[in-house]
Amino acid sequence: SVFAAGSLGALSEVWGELSQAAGAAERLNELLTEVPQIQAPEHPIAMPVPAQGAIAFADVHFAYPARPDYKSLNGLSFAVKPGETVAIVGPSGAGKSTVFSMLLRYYDPVKGTVTIDGIDARMVDPKNLRDRMAIVPQDVTIFAASVHDNIAFGAADASREAVRAAAVAAQADEFIAKLDRGYDTHVGERGVTLSGGQRQRIAIARAILRNAPILLLDEATSALDAESETLVQTALDGLMRQRTTIVIAHRLATVLKADRILVMDHGRVVEEGTHASLIRHGGLYAKLARLQFDHGAESLFVAART
Ligand code: ATP
Repeated sequence: SVFAAGSLGALSEVWGELSQAAGAAERLNELLTEVPQIQAPEHPIAMPVPAQGAIAFADVHFAYPARPDYKSLNGLSFAVKPGETVAIVGPSGAGKSTVFSMLLRYYDPVKGTVTIDGIDARMVDPKNLRDRMAIVPQDVTIFAASVHDNIAFGAADASREAVRAAAVAAQADEFIAKLDRGYDTHVGERGVTLSGGQRQRIAIARAILRNAPILLLDEATSALDAESETLVQTALDGLMRQRTTIVIAHRLATVLKADRILVMDHGRVVEEGTHASLIRHGGLYAKLARLQFDHGAESLFVAART
């Protein structure tokens, strides 16, 4: 998935430290072989400071190198304003993950432009671009390392206080404090195994620590128990505040909270609106909503009437 590659910007920065951790090296190699090689331009433009977090796709066409005849993005256009939360939904293969790959500049469009804060992504050093983004993936990678190092991943020089503050904001400090050696507890391979909800909160703490203006969130499809779910939602609400957020959404609660929903199909936006307006419209979204969201039909239609 895109997120195997998506962790890479951060990965390369902490390579030295993490490659010493048993088990991590193999996983890193696996990730590194997946990285498409995008070169920095010869004379890169520096991203403007301060960051705004504005995103625009303009008539983006894209085919993966492995499938040059198939347009994974086919005239995709949309804009996200600084601080806005936009949910992307759409059937499998619609191109949702590919949107994230383009934002992270793992690939360049065949036609059209992706701009961040008004700058064409092609004009910028990919590292400069990726510094502006934090990712919370669907399947969180936990390295065979301490809890501290797992949170500081991508911000290797973060202080213990900063890591703890991020964990507190991510609703993770409490469970970490209960571990044998707290933040020094080894997790992952040969260490303590974390639950799904705990892994997600570690990923949220990582993202909080990165403090990037743009958040890319690939919502987990697997259900958590009610208590974990509440903690993860609280953590995410904190993370999303004041940031531009694009979320690949699988939950009704998420689309209800979004400022706007983009419905993708065949590599482009086919419908756009709020949950209520899209349900009223009775198109693809209404159909997907009936099939997709993990809350029963009852809560969906209660929401649709409001
Ligand atoms: P899902 O909900 O199943 O994750 P999606 O909407 O995220 O789907 P993408 O993963 O963006 O869809 O894929 C869009 C299209 O591009 C699909 O037809 C997919 O098969 C194709 N595709 C995705 N990744 C690659 C790749 N690395 N090489 C070739 N084709 C790919």
